[in-house]
Amino acid sequence: MNIQRDLKAIVPDETRMRSGEQYLDSICDGRNIFIHGKKYDSALRNPELNKTANLRAQIYDALKDPGRVKKGAIFDAEAGAWVSRLHTPPLRKEDWYDKLEILEDVFLDVRHLPSRVGDETIPAVWSMMDGLPFIRDRNPSFANNIERHMQNILWNDPYHVSGNADPKGNRSSNPEDREADLLLRVVKETDAGLIVRGAKYETGAAYANQAFVKPTVANWGGQELSPYAVGFLWNRFNDANVKIVCRDAYSRHDAADRPLSARADEVESMVIFDDALVPWEDVFFYNDTKLANFVRGSLHRYSMFMFMTRLYALGKLYAGVAFLNCDQNSGTKIPQVREKLAELISYKEMAHAFIVGAIETGSVSPAGYWMPNQPMMYSGRYLLCENLHKIIHITRELCGGQPPLTAGHETFFMEEVRDISRKYYSLSDGWDHERRHKLISLTNDLLNSEYSNYRLNFYMFAHSPPFAQKNAIFNSHDFASCSQLARVLADI
Ligand SMILES: Cc1cc2nc3c(=O)[nH]c(=O)nc-3n(C[C@H](O)[C@H](O)[C@H](O)COP(=O)(O)OP(=O)(O)OC[C@H]3O[C@@H](n4cnc5c(N)ncnc54)[C@H](O)[C@@H]3O)c2cc1C
Repeated sequence: MNIQRDLKAIVPDETRMRSGEQYLDSICDGRNIFIHGKKYDSALRNPELNKTANLRAQIYDALKDPGRVKKGAIFDAEAGAWVSRLHTPPLRKEDWYDKLEILEDVFLDVRHLPSRVGDETIPAVWSMMDGLPFIRDRNPSFANNIERHMQNILWNDPYHVSGNADPKGNRSSNPEDREADLLLRVVKETDAGLIVRGAKYETGAAYANQAFVKPTVANWGGQELSPYAVGFLWNRFNDANVKIVCRDAYSRHDAADRPLSARADEVESMVIFDDALVPWEDVFFYNDTKLANFVRGSLHRYSMFMFMTRLYALGKLYAGVAFLNCDQNSGTKIPQVREKLAELISYKEMAHAFIVGAIETGSVSPAGYWMPNQPMMYSGRYLLCENLHKIIHITRELCGGQPPLTAGHETFFMEEVRDISRKYYSLSDGWDHERRHKLISLTNDLLNSEYSNYRLNFYMFAHSPPFAQKNAIFNSHDFASCSQLARVLADI
């Protein structure tokens, strides 16, 4: 589907922001989607993918409605129309605070903490805008392609995801020495474009409009040219040569027992490109390992912020759930309980401090964007990911063993059980058995569900594994002031 053409036909002149309905229409395009042992031509035909696509649609609608998301839209004078503020690059410090506020509004509006809805994947394109002079120097048409797609993102409001991770194979060998298709590569050049073969893992591919596909390879074995060094914009998920093989969804539950998971699950897929054509105008780099390394090195420059806003929101949610669980039975009066709650508060405040600190001590980037302080963001991302499991465990300890032992709503509210539930679960007027069951359901979803484990995995890997995150900290850090202090005190 050509999003641009359709939007011109549908969207009124004064806005280029899509409605939820337009987005849902755009993904009914005849894909090869495999999930739960069945094949579908549209995510909307599978009940679980349908829930998530509808959550995404709800976000599209919410962003356009100032009653729901106050700062969701911004007028783009060049376009002469309103565009999504989540997609626009940050030109001033305030833009970052606006993005934070928008996300907080969105989370409340959709009653979920979606982590991959586009605002955190599009910034990889802003990073390339910073690198345009270098990219233009290596290949002017690639730089032009990046600029054109950047404008397409702003003006046509696609749902954009990210495809970096390949199945990879043996990590110790160079790409060329591995089993050929384990890393995505170019198998042929044609006048129309590149023919690519291989697979990528992508969150949201079954119901997204486009993906920025690129390699994660760090070691090119000193080569300058490689068919594996390819990055492109993929916007034809309905291509006959593409298959989308999804993991099982964790959302097959009743919302009364799993209020978060049942609402929507952002399903990952392995997207298989089986000799698919990438038109030249969608290629961002190719056959240039220097360029591939350059793009990869700055990939998370801005998207780290969005990643950390989710961790901040998670920190708030864990603290909130622990507090309510303790407060309902006066546990908050116990000093030892307060100490543990203090640890949760500290995590949340650490997230906030990193976000604000990185904004305030940021600088103007080569493209003129307000770039959050990079060493600070890298360190914050690592510390928040690294400590997430501790926060979950403290919350688990504070909430006690009752939530995982409690009957699901079907049993809890059965005719014969209802009085038992009322007797043993009512604590006070404010905390009757019905209200407590709702809190227990959310608690279990955050601590004891498949989805809670999955979320931990997401924050460990989705922005590259811990070793790569630590490597980024080292590479972005200037040791000058640290070593100067050590030298002066050592008198050397
Ligand atoms: C929930 C979830 C969602 C995801 N969504 C996306 C997405 O939308 N798009 C996308 O592109 N990817 C996505 N990913 C994939 C993610 O990018 C990869 O999992 C990540 O890059 C790590 O790659 P890998 O799994 O192949 O691990 P590997 O590279 O095999 O690393 C696994 C472990 O091996 C060890 N190791 C490997 N190499 C080294 C090394 N050089 N030095 C030290 N230790 C090493 C480390 O312990 C490392 O943690 C997602 C992953 C998850 C879990």
